[in-house]
Amino acid sequence: MVAATSSLRTAAFTVGAILVVAAAVAFGSLMKTSTQVQTPIAAGSIQPAPKASPPPTAEALPPVPTAAATQPLAALADDADLSQLRTRALTLPVQGVNVVQLTDTYTQARAAGVPHEALDIMAARGTPVLAVEDGTVAKLFSSKPGGITIYQFDPGSQYAYYYAHLDRYADGLAEGANLRKGQVIGYVGSTGNASPDAPHLHFALFKLGPERQWWRGTPLNPFLVWRDARI
Ligand SMILES: [Zn+2]
Repeated sequence: MVAATSSLRTAAFTVGAILVVAAAVAFGSLMKTSTQVQTPIAAGSIQPAPKASPPPTAEALPPVPTAAATQPLAALADDADLSQLRTRALTLPVQGVNVVQLTDTYTQARAAGVPHEALDIMAARGTPVLAVEDGTVAKLFSSKPGGITIYQFDPGSQYAYYYAHLDRYADGLAEGANLRKGQVIGYVGSTGNASPDAPHLHFALFKLGPERQWWRGTPLNPFLVWRDARI
């Protein structure tokens, strides 16, 4: 019995001690909470997660598309082609005409609302027309709008150069012939739908498709090839 009583007392004391300790802890906790409310939250409590698992940041997100990345692919292709062509220092196709005399007529409307997509170079009838680059004569062709025309391919058959409204071809010019840059290939005129009062060379430039068809391609603005050239 004694042992049992002693044991009970011990137990009671223990329980009491625990309650006191618990109360003290609870009080301390309250005090601590109170203190925390009145003071700024310690910086340590909002430290970012360890670097092993960083929170999402702007850097981690996919890059925001830039204006250039959202441009139509065709426009980007045009820029690449124009840059490529500028490195070739193409000769102006009308003898005696300087680059400062050029006017950009590429986007002008033409008959039936068809975009011009070419460069008109005004010149006196009979002025020599020159090959803008080495290459080959892909086709000598006469059409109602273009009159007497030449389709030239560049050496790699990537691009075609189109010369229209010619008065006539240079003597001996034939399909398949090799051309040298600056070679006389014809003469300025007004054949086709050009006004007889305003002879000029209609010069077009287009990128050929994989089939290398002289009548088909993607037009590029020749004016942009020469605009910044120092010829
Ligand atoms: Zn024209």
